[in-house]
Amino acid sequence: MYVILSVLALAALAVSARWTWWRPAAPGLRVLCYHKIGSPPPGSRLKELWVSPEKFRAQVKYLLDHGYTTILFSDLLKAQKGEAPLPEKAVLITFDDGYENNYLHAWPILRELGAKGNVYVVFNTIGKVNSWHNPASEPWVNMATLAQLKEMQASGVIEYGSHTMNHPHLSALKPEDAAWEIAESKRQLEALFGREMSAFAYPYGDGAYVPAIRQMALDAGYVFDFSFKQGKTPWPWDRSVTIDRLFIRGGDNNWDLALQLERGASRL
Ligand SMILES: [Zn+2]
Repeated sequence: MYVILSVLALAALAVSARWTWWRPAAPGLRVLCYHKIGSPPPGSRLKELWVSPEKFRAQVKYLLDHGYTTILFSDLLKAQKGEAPLPEKAVLITFDDGYENNYLHAWPILRELGAKGNVYVVFNTIGKVNSWHNPASEPWVNMATLAQLKEMQASGVIEYGSHTMNHPHLSALKPEDAAWEIAESKRQLEALFGREMSAFAYPYGDGAYVPAIRQMALDAGYVFDFSFKQGKTPWPWDRSVTIDRLFIRGGDNNWDLALQLERGASRL
C-alpha cells in the first residue's frame, strides 16, 4: 500500500513539474508565438520550433471552442488608441520570421476555421531562406515569397509586423546599424504592403530589455514591441515594458495551451 501511494505521489509530482497547473492565473495580453508549421527537416536542432499542422489546427480549434477571439495587429492598434475595445478573451496568434510553411500550412487552417494570424517578416529574406541560421544546425527552408505574403494579406486573415531587415543580434551591432535594421524594415515593409507596420519583434529577443535598443524601436514609430520572453504583459499597456509572449512548442498539447493562456506558462 505504502509503495503504491509513493508511486502515485511521485507520478503526481512529475506531472506537476511538467504541467504547472498550480501556478496562479496571470492577467494580461495573450500573444502566442509560433515559428514553423510542418515537420522538422532532418538535421534540425530546433525541432521544438516546428508545430505539426494537425496540432496547430487542434490549437486554433481549442481557442475558438473556448470563447477566445483571435485578433490582428490592427485590432490591437485600435484598442491601444482607444478606438475599439479588445474582445474579452482576445488572443494574438503570431509567427516569427515569415516562413513559406506559414503560407502552406498555417494560413489555410486559420482561413478555414475563421481565425486570424500575424507574421513578423524579415525584409531581406522574403522569397529566400532563413540564412541567419547556421545550416549545420538548422537547415535552411524557404521563406514566403512576396506573392504569398500579399495573397495572405489580401485574404484579411493575416497581417504583418517587422522582424528587422536581416534578423541580426541587435545588441551586437553598432548602434547606428541596429537603428537602421529597426527603422528601415518598417519603411520597406510599409512600402511593400501599403499598411502601417505597428508591431516589431526583436530577433532572438535580443535588445528587448536593452533600454537604448528598445528606444530605437519606439523612436522608429512602432506602437508595439514584442519580446522573446515567456509570459503575459498586463493590459491596458503603457509601453513602459516590452510585450511578452506564450511559446507553443512542437511537443505541447492543448493542456499546455490552456495553461499558457490562463497562467502565462505551462512548464517550469
Ligand atoms: Zn526570428
